[in-house]
Amino acid sequence: MIDLPQGLIRLGAQAGSKADAIAQVAALLVQNGNVAPGYVDGMLAREGQANTYLGSGIAIPHGTPETRDLIRQTGIAVLQVPGGVRWGVGGERVRLVVGIAAASDEHLDILRRLTRVLADDALVEKLSTTTDPADVQEALTGERPAAATTPTSGSDLPYTAQVMLPNPLGMHARPATGLATLVRSRGGRVRLSRESGESADATRLMEVLSLGLTRGTPLTVSADSPELLAAVTDAIRSGLGDDLSAAPASTAPVRREPDWVPDGAGATVDGVAAADGLVVGVTRQHAPRPLDVRDEPGDPAQEAARLDNALAAANAELDTVISDVGAKFGSHKAAIFRAHQELLTDEGTVQDTVARILDGHGVAWAYRAATDDRIAQLQKLDDPTLAARAVDLSDVQRRVLRQLLGIREADVQAGGPVILLAPDLTPSDTARLGPDTLLGFVTAQGGPTSHTAIIARGLGLPAVVAAGNGVLDIPDGTPAILDGSAGRLYLNPSEADVQSARERQGVLEREREAARAARFEPGATRDGARVEVAANINRAADALAALEAGAEGVGLMRTEFLFLERDSVPTEDEQEREYRAMAAALEGRPLIIRTLDIGGDKEVPYLGLAHEDNSFLGLRGIRLCFERPDLFLPQLRAVARVAKDYPNVHLMFPMISTLEDFRRARAIFDEVRAELGAPRVPLGVMIEVPSAALIAEQLAPEVDFFSIGTNDLTQYTLAMDRLHPQLARQTDAMHPAVLQLIALTVQAADRHGKWVGVCGGAAGDDVGALLLTGLGVKELSVSTPQIAGVKAALRQRTLGELQALAREALAQPNAEAVRALVRPPQPEGATA
Ligand code: PEP
Ligand code: MG
Repeated sequence: MIDLPQGLIRLGAQAGSKADAIAQVAALLVQNGNVAPGYVDGMLAREGQANTYLGSGIAIPHGTPETRDLIRQTGIAVLQVPGGVRWGVGGERVRLVVGIAAASDEHLDILRRLTRVLADDALVEKLSTTTDPADVQEALTGERPAAATTPTSGSDLPYTAQVMLPNPLGMHARPATGLATLVRSRGGRVRLSRESGESADATRLMEVLSLGLTRGTPLTVSADSPELLAAVTDAIRSGLGDDLSAAPASTAPVRREPDWVPDGAGATVDGVAAADGLVVGVTRQHAPRPLDVRDEPGDPAQEAARLDNALAAANAELDTVISDVGAKFGSHKAAIFRAHQELLTDEGTVQDTVARILDGHGVAWAYRAATDDRIAQLQKLDDPTLAARAVDLSDVQRRVLRQLLGIREADVQAGGPVILLAPDLTPSDTARLGPDTLLGFVTAQGGPTSHTAIIARGLGLPAVVAAGNGVLDIPDGTPAILDGSAGRLYLNPSEADVQSARERQGVLEREREAARAARFEPGATRDGARVEVAANINRAADALAALEAGAEGVGLMRTEFLFLERDSVPTEDEQEREYRAMAAALEGRPLIIRTLDIGGDKEVPYLGLAHEDNSFLGLRGIRLCFERPDLFLPQLRAVARVAKDYPNVHLMFPMISTLEDFRRARAIFDEVRAELGAPRVPLGVMIEVPSAALIAEQLAPEVDFFSIGTNDLTQYTLAMDRLHPQLARQTDAMHPAVLQLIALTVQAADRHGKWVGVCGGAAGDDVGALLLTGLGVKELSVSTPQIAGVKAALRQRTLGELQALAREALAQPNAEAVRALVRPPQPEGATA
């Protein structure tokens, strides 16, 4: 008896031609591992010999005998084309395409059932239009699957693994798009399931977003092959393109005291700071014209074709937006609109729309109903970052409806430079805004991590979000000052306030320009104390961008990413090539390579490591390397080889917790060097376990440098899992307990003439960079976009000032008090 898993059924498909339909059904068989990709040629050749139309709108394409050796496992796939596709010269239209890959005669049972279906018009109609794959499974196999028929059911896929979502902002649209693209590019099926039992097909963006996955959510990933499972779990663990060292989303951002306040404003609107900047202007309400969507049913095939055209036109529009935004602000900003393209083609949404069309509704009404359901689902999610994705989907919905209704969007920019007030803005609205015609905006709703806020930052437009519905009552033309950094809109300011705001604007503008223009200057305090500002990167390909942003070297190369982004261990040669490329690109600037830090949240499934109950406290980092010389030795050899040609190579070991750890690692490396005739390489220890900080005095004489990993040092000192969503706001490296350990480390290093760097997230934090310098740190290794800002912040203070601040910080009761100490210096022209 042959079974028909859900992955071999595609409902609500559209096909432009018979060949297209055959290609789609063949792709299902390929994806499920039934046939090799060339089988489709056999299916097409067979159609040339004999038409496979069975009758009643059903066809059974299958390969020629010559292509039988491309069959790996007998199976059938069903493509439902509710709008029909022309099959033969006789003009017959097919709505059910049953692709057959039969190595023997196991499929005969299904053919027998098909002939029974043929005789039952009502059943044919049902199978040609159903949106429930279980109907097809039941009709063709005689069994109705108990589960796995709805998006929220469990998985029927054989290979499973557990992962913890590491993304600071949870599974938002960009990583979800990356996941869908990965699964599609490799073929096959993947489901993500939560402990609660809800699950989603990884290629369906809406389903994945609706799971509401926040950082640290345990997930079961299931796939139909072990290779696909490994690729997907690796990609999830490495963040699907997100920067995992970024600070986790905070639901209520720390409110900074404003750098500037007016003396005599009429009223102040308080919101959440979303994009920095200060502007003076008049307000204008932005109310997008409501779209008039009526239910005007038409011929279902024509309505489906209109949907197809509208989706294609919206996709083309998004292509233009992507290239415009990419050219102006870089491809990272445009990624939001690539996620929109993904939402546009979301299979579930298209299927639901088609189902409604088949129920007798007009296309615009059907599309709006299908997307409204999903928007409502997203809005219900607890996590504000994920709930903000409802705005993205509304944006996509409006784009498609405009196409269906033939409406051009009113120009948001019309009317000259204003401070725009709106209930919320979609990312598209925001991308259409420009600093030439718009001064900034305030929205009643929204959040600081919404894409609208991200685009505003890219455009350099000050923005305040979540200011409450009161902003919608402010009359057009009200004079106002918008302070994006403070999250405030001041209404009816006095002449003197306007004057003082303009002066402050000038200062801010000069600061920004100065930071960018001075990004190539060496990092130093105002009185010239040198602090090297380096970049954390994972790949040689990122080195040039880091240098262009002003990096003075690479303070942390996380080598585990070479292992995480693939299915097998990179060879010694492959590793050597990567390290060599990076060493060469840096043209003599330091390159600090960290040996493998696998374990904890960084799991590599293909290594077959034993499960650990407390993975952060187990065989992680150097401890694992001691157990696995098959991994450690090739890596050390690759580094030693590169060091023979590049004296800028440094090496450091992660998760050192005892003196013996370091001595043992050094001895192994010394042996490797001796074997290869490689020179001495500066050796460092990462200080990321409290015990290492406490024995820094013993370690210091033996090392060349220390690099403090504040991410781990904070989690181990405060006993707070760095991925724990509820503890995220307390897991702050500015806690005086962590600062004490850093101070101990620096003092020990100083006594032995060694230097200390910081490569954890605190180095790029505006308070962290200053306090760490005050504590005596000599190198700050940060993510590339933070480099110019960190250098500029350092230049504003003398070392003496920072040392005094650091001393005070050590005596504070908590991280909040530490942060409150480090206020920016009062700028000229400020009134408070
Ligand atoms: C750290 O722990 O601060 C660090 C830099 O290492 P990772 O984030 O890779 O654990
Ligand atoms: Mg670490």
